[in-house]
Amino acid sequence: MINVTKTFLPPKTEYEKIIGQIWKSNQIANGGVLHQKLIKSLQNYLNISNIVLTANGTLPLQIVLKSMAKQGEVITTPFSYVATTSSIVWENCTPVFVDISPNSLCIEASKIENAITKKTTAILATHVFGNPCELEEIEKIAKNYDLKVIYDAAHCFGVKYRGKSIFNFGDVSTCSFHATKLFHTGEGGATFCKDNELFQELFYRHNFGHKGKIEFQGLGINAKLSELQAGMGLAVLPYVFELIESNKIRTQLYDKYLDFEKVRKPVQIEGVESNFNYYPLIFPNESILKEVLSILAEKEIYPRRYFYPSLNNLPFLKYKEMPVSEDIASRILCMPLYSELKFTDIKLICDLVNSKLKDLKVN
Ligand SMILES: *Cc1c(COP(=O)(O)O)cnc(C)c1O
Repeated sequence: MINVTKTFLPPKTEYEKIIGQIWKSNQIANGGVLHQKLIKSLQNYLNISNIVLTANGTLPLQIVLKSMAKQGEVITTPFSYVATTSSIVWENCTPVFVDISPNSLCIEASKIENAITKKTTAILATHVFGNPCELEEIEKIAKNYDLKVIYDAAHCFGVKYRGKSIFNFGDVSTCSFHATKLFHTGEGGATFCKDNELFQELFYRHNFGHKGKIEFQGLGINAKLSELQAGMGLAVLPYVFELIESNKIRTQLYDKYLDFEKVRKPVQIEGVESNFNYYPLIFPNESILKEVLSILAEKEIYPRRYFYPSLNNLPFLKYKEMPVSEDIASRILCMPLYSELKFTDIKLICDLVNSKLKDLKVN
């Protein structure tokens, strides 16, 4: 069976050796030795100093929205994982969708200004499949209207824009270290920000609001990463470069074998170093997508409808039409891509997809 992704597990002995240190420190939670080591390693790898590690990639969205969006209207994208929108609602803010660019699949910056009201406090945008949003344009708008910019960068570990980690952009970025992401700690996540005061706030909020043992700085929650998770991160991190390289080779094979007369990929903006963690394909329409799904399922190959549905369709929201996002969501598939995926399987997948597309008339 071939799924859209397969979790990378580091050699068991390496993980065991790392977590063996827990039996020396006797500390399995609350920022122990492994947690400190992981922070240092990530600071070095990403060249970012303010990092708060969290138990998953959704809690940082909630914490950041609590600190920055203040129950106002949050301009956001309908084309993301549900956590982006549900976190806004969970924090008693109001999601205001702005449709996406059919090219990058990220929020269309030129449409943001129209959606701003007196109640708008923040923009929460997703770098979809690691493809950066229009960073400069969004920054300009945010400055003009005094809004906070939050990036859901869950897909972006290892992605660089103009030589810098993508986590450097906006007021704050969040990431997920879930098992399905390029770099993982089993479950886990992080926030990244430049501002030191904001960093202090995000830090106390992720640890019950503690300021020292008996004092409290403000409202917090428990969002801490455990030592077991940090240990997994330390075991996976040395392999990230290899993982990116092997995904890159597989991406190039898809590019080579697929017939692009009738399918297309999102357009990547210039200046980006990708992490090659997704291979999204946009089909001419949903019925062809379903035919492709079924022909692949016969061989036990399961791409994923990612993202589907468009988030403006969520049952707990008042529906508002988002034509581009709904259209793309209805006909996009993420093809299998992971470091152990066999070249021959990529060829097989491409042959099957091409065979479905061959007789298709598209105008
Ligand atoms: C994975 C993901 C999340 C949620 O991260 P978890 O670690 O699973 O909580 C949020 N946003 C996007 C875009 C994601 O892909």
